[in-house]
Amino acid sequence: MIKALNDRIVVIGAEGSSNVTAVLTKDGVVIVDTSLFPEKARKVKELVNDFFKRPIGVVVNTHYHPDHTFGNVAFEEFKIVSSELTKSFMESFDEEYLSKLPSIDKIVTPNFLFDEEYEDRNLLIKRLGGHTPDSSIIFFKQERLVVTGDLLFNGFHPEIVADSDLDAWIDALKFIETLKPIWIVPGHGEIANTESLRAMERYLMKMKRLIEGAVNLQDVMSDENFSKRKFPELFGWSLENLLHQRGS
Ligand SMILES: [Zn+2]
Repeated sequence: MIKALNDRIVVIGAEGSSNVTAVLTKDGVVIVDTSLFPEKARKVKELVNDFFKRPIGVVVNTHYHPDHTFGNVAFEEFKIVSSELTKSFMESFDEEYLSKLPSIDKIVTPNFLFDEEYEDRNLLIKRLGGHTPDSSIIFFKQERLVVTGDLLFNGFHPEIVADSDLDAWIDALKFIETLKPIWIVPGHGEIANTESLRAMERYLMKMKRLIEGAVNLQDVMSDENFSKRKFPELFGWSLENLLHQRGS
């Protein structure tokens, strides 16, 4: 799926897979996230070149997860920006973790790093944590576009992983809203809006209440904010991760 939001913003994704966003700015085309597959990333590069007919300026990774970074290999010659944490997490993938993923020839890590924030005339990149400690959002100032990475899943259950922090995640969603974006590209799913942010926030609050025992599983399952999301298997998996966090 390739979707042009206007003549400067293109989102490439497929049902449930991670979104790749390309935006034409004054400093060239900015690509956010590179997908799991190097072949797909190479195709994205061609598509972007055909669509904008302008050079790629910079590539950004929202966080270390392979479905957002393994395609970096197709963009090796460019400036690849991420938080320092993202790079260090990518450097510590172990054999067992990698064995569960499609094998790739080479992991290309970001080559331009920031600690908490990176800002230039077009972009504000801010590490907010939440989904993972390195989860960062990219705000395109002129377009009023926010690319959220996996802080937002639209229409899908979110992936709450072993290193997720629900409180930081909820704060991150609130922060995104303060930017008053016109366009919101989630990590997975269709183009979102403020209501999608609030639904994600309510989802995470309810997960917190569930593990605290304040609501039961039935209350959760009968909530449309849960039952209508795709990939229900992710719900069980997320719950397991949260219970494990609590136990440890
Ligand atoms: Zn992720």
